[in-house]
Amino acid sequence: MAKIRTLAQLGQTLDEAFAPGEGFSPEAVEDFYIFLKEARLMDQGIRLLDPDKFYWLDPVYRITRTELFDPAGRFRNGIVFRKAAQMGASTWSVAFMVWLCIDESRPLSIGSYWPTKEELQNFITTRLDPMLQGSPQLARLMDDAEFDNTQAKKIGRSTIYFRHVAGKSAMDAVPMDLVFCDEVRLWEAIYPGGAAAALERIMLRMGQSDIQLMILMSTTGIPEDYMEQRWFESNQTKYFSLCPNGCVTLVSAASRDENRVVPRHEAQGYEGRVIEGVVLSDFEPTRIVSDIRARTFTCPCCGGDIEDPQSGHYAACYPDTEGMFAIEFAQTLSKTKNSRPGRILERYLTAQDMKEFMNGVMAKPHLNAEGRPVKPEHWNLARERGFRAGLTWEYGGAGCYLGADFRHNQTHIVIGEPGEYLDPESGLIFPFKLAHLEVFEGPEWPERLDQLMVDFGVVQAIIDFLPDTNRTVQFAKRHEGRVLLAEYRNGDLMRLPNDRKAATRRVSPDGREEYKVLLDQVKSLSASLGAFASGQWLVPDGPLRQDFTDRKNVLLTDFDVVEGMDGAGREGFKQHLMGLALRNVTQVTQTDHREKVNKSGIVTQEFYDAGGFDPHFAHAFNYMVMATRADGGSVKLLKANPEDLAAAMQARQIARGEVAQAAPMTPSGKFNLAALGPQGLMGVRKAQRKCGGCVHGPREGRAICLWTGMNVGADEPACPLPTGYRARP
Ligand SMILES: [Zn+2]
Repeated sequence: MAKIRTLAQLGQTLDEAFAPGEGFSPEAVEDFYIFLKEARLMDQGIRLLDPDKFYWLDPVYRITRTELFDPAGRFRNGIVFRKAAQMGASTWSVAFMVWLCIDESRPLSIGSYWPTKEELQNFITTRLDPMLQGSPQLARLMDDAEFDNTQAKKIGRSTIYFRHVAGKSAMDAVPMDLVFCDEVRLWEAIYPGGAAAALERIMLRMGQSDIQLMILMSTTGIPEDYMEQRWFESNQTKYFSLCPNGCVTLVSAASRDENRVVPRHEAQGYEGRVIEGVVLSDFEPTRIVSDIRARTFTCPCCGGDIEDPQSGHYAACYPDTEGMFAIEFAQTLSKTKNSRPGRILERYLTAQDMKEFMNGVMAKPHLNAEGRPVKPEHWNLARERGFRAGLTWEYGGAGCYLGADFRHNQTHIVIGEPGEYLDPESGLIFPFKLAHLEVFEGPEWPERLDQLMVDFGVVQAIIDFLPDTNRTVQFAKRHEGRVLLAEYRNGDLMRLPNDRKAATRRVSPDGREEYKVLLDQVKSLSASLGAFASGQWLVPDGPLRQDFTDRKNVLLTDFDVVEGMDGAGREGFKQHLMGLALRNVTQVTQTDHREKVNKSGIVTQEFYDAGGFDPHFAHAFNYMVMATRADGGSVKLLKANPEDLAAAMQARQIARGEVAQAAPMTPSGKFNLAALGPQGLMGVRKAQRKCGGCVHGPREGRAICLWTGMNVGADEPACPLPTGYRARP
């Protein structure tokens, strides 16, 4: 069939398609706005389709076929909606699909893609069907035989195919001309390979079409997710409300939400784009609303009253971009009761879930701070307390815990030492300190870890099981009873080998299952990062004292100044800890009976900005804290009474001295456990490590352990010393 290019041709075709006077006018076929009027959909109670009231959809209400399908049309690369909740975009999409179908001269194959079956069905039953049934004009076009079909609907000569990304037929081979993709941010967790992979496959479905139009719709999610990437590549069309004093927006040259609002006279000489008015939703509610009774917004620049946020205009921040046409609308544009300025501020101030507020109301991506367990103030406090407690980084120690995480050629190592660390200012005693951090480069990590196990008298280590499983199993065997091999798996926070069925531990001939500890990634990380945030771990002051050998065997001494290594040393550790946020996403799996499982996810947003490195120190820290738990330790902060405090401090000093007499020291001034010989060292077993067995330990009741300085009971699993040393004479 020849392509129809003129309205006259369209009209002629329609005349053939409909009885005279009963069909849509040629103008309605060409112009979506006129179609909305003629289809009388807003008379059917579908309020959001009234183009005269819901002006924020104006740019997409005004679309004509010429604009849409012309090779030079402004929508040629597709349309992105970055939207708040309840703003009518989904309703728009239904009406728009139907409008596409009414052109009998151009049969279209349209795809409507949803994240899950539930969302798809909800869309059909609550939006599409009522709309089709509501308009006599549209009912005429429907093929009744296919009306109840939830796979596809035939309207006129065109067909709308319904698919959900989780489904088996999601990527079937039906060729498409246009696709509508809804709630794309949820696709990430559902489709293997994420939203980008799913959309790539959908693009293939459109390979034969000369239209190939993709429409992405989604509420916002977290920063840097797929929808955000599309947004940043787009022309970023936003609604600018006019300020009574004429303030203007200076569009940042970088394609980000960093625009500034200034008084008009300050815009003179600005090199970039200047747009009249202000985008209210770009600002925190406290900056655009004076108080919760407010009936008007105020300009974030001059404080002038913006009586009607709808008095303004749409403008593209980056009109020349090659990317998609993208439009953002937030509830600051809405005039419902719930969107009154004072109400928006109130909802902001009382929000239980800030992400939901920022996504649903302000149309802005957000990562909840509560999803980011370690904040700068936690880090600073841990360092200040460490400083006041006089802590330093160590070359060795006793009774320590170790965590190690592998990536490529690097091993991230974190060692912590239990004790009673007194902050004289607060009078609090803290149970743990960081003793050592290291990134070891090279394949000789087993030798390095062997040495650290000895130097620090490590009583329990947890290291990554993968990727070098043979060597990790050998390492665990070499340090029998003191090493567990970690694997992240959803489930309980931590499952030790003894917690699991013997049968599952016996499956592998080399016994690797015997050493495996299963950790739920989100649960364990939130527990260990939470332990840091709650102040259990102190960070020593001063330079990180360690020797570090790089792959060329050059000895580097001050670790903090090693250049060219992302995330090395104390600064890297800090970044890894603070940059990690945790979230739970729901993953839908396709099995015989569909089930939803909670998939754990971690978000490392800051690292994308920094060039994309993984927070391996955070995993190593997690393994180490889990090692303290595997060792039976449960800790809480103690508030010491002054006498105990003094006694503890004194005992600690004595302990150091006495230990020095009992066993040789390493060159770095630490007690050398290795001097006890293989029997003593390897004999450390969790079950045997009871206090009260030591010549220094309490025989009954509680006492200060002369070795650790800890206040221990006679039979508690607290003493880190090897059996051979602490047996009573
Ligand atoms: Zn102003």
